Amino acid sequence: MNITFWGAAQEVTGSKHLISVNGKNVLLDAGFFQGHRAEAEEKNRNLPFLGSEIDAIVLSHAHMDHCGSIPTLYKTGFRGKIYATPATCDVAQIMLEDSADIQMSDASYINRYKKPSEYIEPLYAQADVAAVMHHFEAKRLREGFEPVPGMRVEFMEAGHILGSAQVHITLTEGERTVRLGFTGDLGRKGLPILRDPEFFDSLDYLVSESTYGNRFHESTDDLEEKLQKVILETLERKGKIIAPAFALGRTQSLIYLLHKLTDQKNIPRIPIFIDSPMATEVTEVFSKHKELYDDELIAFLGNDDDPMSFRNLHFTQSAEDSKSLNHREGPFIVISTSGMCEVGRIRHHLKNSVEQPNNTILVTGFMAEHTLGRRIVERQSKIKLFDTMYPLRARVAVMDALSAHAGQPELLAHIKPITGLRNIFLVHGEPDAQRVMMEKIKSFNQSAAIHNPAFGQSFEL
Ligand SMILES: [Zn+2]
Repeated sequence: MNITFWGAAQEVTGSKHLISVNGKNVLLDAGFFQGHRAEAEEKNRNLPFLGSEIDAIVLSHAHMDHCGSIPTLYKTGFRGKIYATPATCDVAQIMLEDSADIQMSDASYINRYKKPSEYIEPLYAQADVAAVMHHFEAKRLREGFEPVPGMRVEFMEAGHILGSAQVHITLTEGERTVRLGFTGDLGRKGLPILRDPEFFDSLDYLVSESTYGNRFHESTDDLEEKLQKVILETLERKGKIIAPAFALGRTQSLIYLLHKLTDQKNIPRIPIFIDSPMATEVTEVFSKHKELYDDELIAFLGNDDDPMSFRNLHFTQSAEDSKSLNHREGPFIVISTSGMCEVGRIRHHLKNSVEQPNNTILVTGFMAEHTLGRRIVERQSKIKLFDTMYPLRARVAVMDALSAHAGQPELLAHIKPITGLRNIFLVHGEPDAQRVMMEKIKSFNQSAAIHNPAFGQSFEL
């Protein structure tokens, strides 16, 4: 029995952890590497194994850095099953179809100036996604299953995004049995819509994410009050609120919070537009999976049974609908993609809003370095949109409390109660965050060996 870390190893993307037991290979997640384009493209194209060498995939959740390489594996011969929660199966389909579109347009962009003999192939196409979707098999939380002989798996709530799961694994080879827990991406207590992450009790091995091992987040306690304040202040100035948000997760959290604030008359019933076809599709999945809602949301719903639908919420359909917002006077709220403002309709909304000081740009998500979103968070005096520099005069409000990842105290609180741990593997984190977390874990657990595996590093279990 062994585990090999083929991604999210001292970095935050490309999650792929390969478990071998009784001569079979099971991949925990099959995610894309993201970041520097050429480097990520090379790593995503040349995976360290063929799909035909993998017997099954256990998928923690549908973010691209966890599921993006599944069609690539299909292309190289993977014909096993992909086990995921029902909501993850639904969301993964939307994410992978979108990814296939991006792969196709990236390839044709790169091929523009190439001779046909030098054309690069897209990583995968819609047909590959359609084919591999038949291999998904939905498993509910706590519904045990056996992907290969000697491997027993149960999903547990991760509280990170809709459908996200932690994975509890029992491996048996001959006389030997070990228990391994994988956090996937770990969410936070108190996030809107989702239930709080569950805890592992006793394990031999833990594979834990460590994204924010060195960071503290704002508390989720006064989320609604903060959002209410930003909105009311903008309305006083008769401005617009422009919210860049990821299509999956942040958009639906905002919809629900706005629904609640409006119903409770804490904010006036102003028009709210969701301007992203993908966010609209994902929102439908949220409406469908009521079994995943937390108690607070169930209590709020009462007879009104869809948190993603209320009178003043509008989903724009066509590009024309989207463009018509450019000329609309405030007050209104528009939530649009991309989350980091690098592409998509959000750039048009920003172009039409950043110069007026009465408007607010509401930032609720992480903005990576070198993105337009980061320059907005840094409140740079001028920002570039469509090759033109615009003065940034709009107010910038940053709400970090909606972060879908556990911060340092939450990660540690998740590890602390686990008994029997012999080895802890920190994945999905930069080395700086991991170093801090290793020191903190040592302060309460001196018996477990703590590792931050390098790419391709393998451990006997
Ligand atoms: Zn994630």
